[in-house]
Amino acid sequence: MRVVTGWRFLVYIALPLVLAALAAMNLSSDLLHRVQAGSNAAEQERNKLVLSEATASAEADLARLASENAQWDEAVVNTSKAPNEQWFAQTWTNGLNLGNSYDLVALFDSSNGALLYSRSRDGTAPTIPALLGTHGLLNYKDMLLVKNQNHGIISGFQATAEGFVVMAMAPVYSPTAAPEGNGRILYLGRKLDHNWLDEQKRKLLVAGLTIVPGQVERAEAIPLKAADGQVVASLTWSNRMLGNIVTASSWTKAGAVLSFLILVMTGIGYVCWTLVQQLLEDENRAQHTALHDHLTGLPNRLALTQAMEGLQAAEQPYALAFADLDGFKEVNDSYGHEYGDKLITIVANNIRQLAQSAQLCCRLGGDEFVVLFAGQQSTQQALIYADKVIQAMKQTFDMDGRLATVGASVGIAACDGKQDVSEMMRRSDIAMYKAKASGKGRLCVFDESFDSERNENLAIASELKTIIAAKTLDIVFQPVVNAKTHAITGVEALARWPAVSSRQVAAEKFIAIAENSGLIDDLGQLILEKACVAAAPWADIRLAVNISAVQLNNPTFVKRSLAVLESHGIAANRVEFEITETSLIHDTERAKQVFNTLQSAGVKIALDDFGTGFSSIGYLRTFKFDRIKIDKSIVNKVLSSASELAVVQGTLLVARGLSAEVTAEGVETDEEASLLRLAGCTELQGYLYHRPITTREVNQLLCRDKMEDLPHTIVA
Ligand code: C2E
Ligand code: MG
Ligand code: MG
Repeated sequence: MRVVTGWRFLVYIALPLVLAALAAMNLSSDLLHRVQAGSNAAEQERNKLVLSEATASAEADLARLASENAQWDEAVVNTSKAPNEQWFAQTWTNGLNLGNSYDLVALFDSSNGALLYSRSRDGTAPTIPALLGTHGLLNYKDMLLVKNQNHGIISGFQATAEGFVVMAMAPVYSPTAAPEGNGRILYLGRKLDHNWLDEQKRKLLVAGLTIVPGQVERAEAIPLKAADGQVVASLTWSNRMLGNIVTASSWTKAGAVLSFLILVMTGIGYVCWTLVQQLLEDENRAQHTALHDHLTGLPNRLALTQAMEGLQAAEQPYALAFADLDGFKEVNDSYGHEYGDKLITIVANNIRQLAQSAQLCCRLGGDEFVVLFAGQQSTQQALIYADKVIQAMKQTFDMDGRLATVGASVGIAACDGKQDVSEMMRRSDIAMYKAKASGKGRLCVFDESFDSERNENLAIASELKTIIAAKTLDIVFQPVVNAKTHAITGVEALARWPAVSSRQVAAEKFIAIAENSGLIDDLGQLILEKACVAAAPWADIRLAVNISAVQLNNPTFVKRSLAVLESHGIAANRVEFEITETSLIHDTERAKQVFNTLQSAGVKIALDDFGTGFSSIGYLRTFKFDRIKIDKSIVNKVLSSASELAVVQGTLLVARGLSAEVTAEGVETDEEASLLRLAGCTELQGYLYHRPITTREVNQLLCRDKMEDLPHTIVA
């Protein structure tokens, strides 16, 4: 699974959170605006309503009062002729001071509009303009005529010389005595001064009340109409904007909630971000682990494969330099894996430094390193690097005080665009093995001819299968002689490719092929069987048989081998199994176990080719060999090299201490023979005495020896 990367985090986590926060903010803001607008509209409506009602009721109340005071018999009596001022003072003037119902009172003559009597609350006698404005009663004349004949009342708002008033006029008449009226009109007025406005403000809870002349076209205004329906003024006010007041505190709360919400979302975002970072780190770590070697930190096989595939896709030439350490197993086995790992780490650092021009420097595992060079110069660079690494690996490595000398064999393969990744790996691997086989510490560049060798090996393996099945393998025997008497003490069985075959294959080669193709168990058994059949009649002669290390891994090896000896009547103590030193290093414990079982059955164990491998004295102690066979490469040099002689002498000393016999093999000259005998070798083997010979030849040889041993008289 690909974990969320930076932009994915933005798209999948951060963006939704920000959008959610914005949506929440937008929603709350919209809600508050609606509440605010709603409240403000409701207040506006309510103010309009209450003020309309207040003005209407001011007019209606005054009209009702005027009507009550005018339709009164006593009023008719006291106003009909000359007005009775005393009566006026006691009734209508007194009324000015009772309650707060009207501020102005007047009496008109309806026939000519003359003012007969007038009083205001302050005791003055207002004039017509102060009561009815500049046009006086003329404005109402027609209205009065029509209305008053029907005893109608007129009322309305009026702009007067002293300000705005609401007034009502009613004809004075007696509903019972003089229903036609006496031609007098009672006028009551209420000043719309600041007192009136303050009272309305207080009662109705409306702010900023004012009266302005004429019609005002705005929402916060209602018209004040005169009795004839003309708008004389407007009552205006200012809304308190209750919605704003209410939402002002809500905004604070919403702000707090939103802040909390943003805080929570930021928290969630942060936690998600941390988790994503963690996942990214884990993924990077996992990717690094998947592509790197844990011990050295170098890229691994997978990383190499990917890099090669990349180069192939880009059609770029490249070269591989495959380096394998020589003698690493020995270091691992003698010092332990801990020091083996230390050596690998040091070597990895060296390789990394030497491969500066490389595209990739990787460890395949164990002691195998592959360096990838890309570009037109890649093969040249690989060759230079190989030389350097071979030289560098010759040094003695110090692993916390423990010294080790190894070496490196390097195989180089260049890709010309025709080979795929696995083919390139195979080629570099084959080249490296070729370098090892040609003497280690060398460099080998892959050549097409290596493939013909591989094909030949496959053909040999196939033929070997037939040989094993048909049991047509040949066995020859090389006698081993007593160093002093030169009498034959034993024979070493050596496998030979059948003479009838069209090809010739050396023993070492087909043994190695058998080991690599899984045929060695059956081949080993066949050799032992054939050797036993041949050696059965050779009483008292030791039979040495070479055993491949691969055979030791087979759990049935001991059982099968002892069974072969028994079935051919060969006493186990006549038999010696030879095993090479280098083959023991793979599984020391298993080898020890196998040898102990064989030795307890009487079979002897010889260490073959001593001196070619690690030559550890520790091995000699661990395995309790019955015999040590000094390799011919050392034997052939004893004459010319004091150090080789010292090896032989040292080996003899150790062997003697461990009660092991020492055989020198590959003895070719008398000088070697006498030197080895003097050095203490008990037995000798080599062309000087006998070449490997057939069964018949051994029979003849043994027969001749026996004859020579008989007293001359009998021979004669
Ligand atoms: P090895 O076991 O050390 O056998 C000794 C080899 O040295 C033989 O080579 C032998 O012919 C050769 N030799 C003996 N004396 C002289 C001498 O004076 N000068 C020279 N130049 N060579 C001498 P061969 O038979 O070719 O075998 C080579 C190796 O192949 C053997 O080395 C052994 O490791 C392996 N081998 C041979 N036969 C068998 C076998 O039956 N089983 C197994 N597992 N390995 C075998
Ligand atoms: Mg041998
Ligand atoms: Mg040998």
